[in-house]
Amino acid sequence: MPPNNPIFAAEQYYFFQGHFDIKKFLKLYVTYDLSHLMENCLFCSIANGTLESKIIIKEKNWISFWDANPVAPFHALIIPNRHYNSLNELEDPELYSELIQGVKKTAQKENLENGYRIVINTGTDGGQTVSHLHIHLLGKRKMGWPPG
Ligand code: AMP
Ligand code: ZN
Repeated sequence: MPPNNPIFAAEQYYFFQGHFDIKKFLKLYVTYDLSHLMENCLFCSIANGTLESKIIIKEKNWISFWDANPVAPFHALIIPNRHYNSLNELEDPELYSELIQGVKKTAQKENLENGYRIVINTGTDGGQTVSHLHIHLLGKRKMGWPPG
């Protein structure tokens, strides 16, 4: 388990203090917001390092990494490290801003000086297949319009 996991930290704390109190621990466990810990989510696993990926940039609140099935010569995904099913669930304006900065930083790092396209497939009609918010960043070829 990653060392910054709050539940792990709580276990460690109570264990090392030598007064493990199951009631206190369970209270902490059930009252803590667990919505961002999605054990079976592919992109959560990439974000917490348990699933291998070709990481481009790793930041506190987001990462960018290569898409496993690129549809352009350059194809990356920018994701929040915290789980959101889709764009519809994201409300924090600071995180919005950080993700867009993540796009620009990744584009700059990968020398997409001729331009690029970002895509956020959302929901069934949007063609979203992985239920963890992600921004596609496509580049190194001229894009067509309209998209399919
Ligand atoms: P979407 O269809 O918009 O939900 O996009 C999901 C994207 O995730 C697709 O482009 C997949 O190729 C990509 N993908 C799926 N599994 C992985 C993985 N393990 N590592 C990197 N990209 C992945
Ligand atoms: Zn997730």
